[in-house]
Amino acid sequence: MLATTDPGLGARGITAFLVEYGAGGYRVMARPQLPVRAASCCDVLFDGVVVPAGNVLGDVGRGLSLAMRAINSGRLNVSAGCTGIAQAALEAASAHAVSRTQFGKPLAGFQLVQQLIADIAVQANAARQVYQAAARLLDSGADARVECSMSKYFCSEAANQVATRAVQVFGAAGLMEGNVAERLFRDAREATIGEGTSQMQVLQIGTALLGVSAVR
Ligand SMILES: Cc1cc2nc3c(=O)[nH]c(=O)nc-3n(C[C@H](O)[C@H](O)[C@H](O)COP(=O)(O)OP(=O)(O)OC[C@H]3O[C@@H](n4cnc5c(N)ncnc54)[C@H](O)[C@@H]3O)c2cc1C
Repeated sequence: MLATTDPGLGARGITAFLVEYGAGGYRVMARPQLPVRAASCCDVLFDGVVVPAGNVLGDVGRGLSLAMRAINSGRLNVSAGCTGIAQAALEAASAHAVSRTQFGKPLAGFQLVQQLIADIAVQANAARQVYQAAARLLDSGADARVECSMSKYFCSEAANQVATRAVQVFGAAGLMEGNVAERLFRDAREATIGEGTSQMQVLQIGTALLGVSAVR
């Protein structure tokens, strides 16, 4: 966990601790959530937890910089997941468009449905290229912060757009619990929020391009 150990120092007053599972003094309460139901988000309440000095991770006051070391790969992780959402949306929507018949022919035979499918395919392809280019840069040891932000921003917004289009291809069936498009739609919704919201990615990119911060 990260905790403020010196409120007067702002970001330099945050320290990372290892809190042993079962140490006592804390409560964990799962919160039912819209997306990614295979994992649970929890409120964690601490009350009188004693953490031995040996459980400080890194140096006191350096918790935020420790966490930020993982941020680039975390953003690529989300980007790759979003590409998976886009690919799954493409496969599910295509299969449905070919198999469902309306007005005497498959949905796939209507030009406006083809546009939905083509747009999903373009975004899935673009998301894959963008995140893999950022991953290659990060692997090379270069400073890839901006590229990882661009990747996370692009892929997460693309995942939301393709999931919406996949629901559209499915029609009412896409709104029903248990339908693959319904799940992709819910899961995509998280991607523009966790690991830094789209707004924060934009501000990071803007700051890097312009040399002026608009965060505060
Ligand atoms: C499923 C899920 C899993 C998560 N897992 C983790 C985890 O494992 N570890 C972890 O630490 N966190 C986790 N998070 C938290 C996530 O990182 C935060 O929700 C996210 O950073 C946004 O913070 P917030 O929810 O407090 O929103 P807020 O900061 O309150 O933001 C609300 C809105 O205001 C905008 N906003 C805020 N500040 C600014 C600004 N300066 N300029 C412009 N717009 C601004 C935001 O972009 C957003 O649209 C998870 C979130 C989700 C949904």
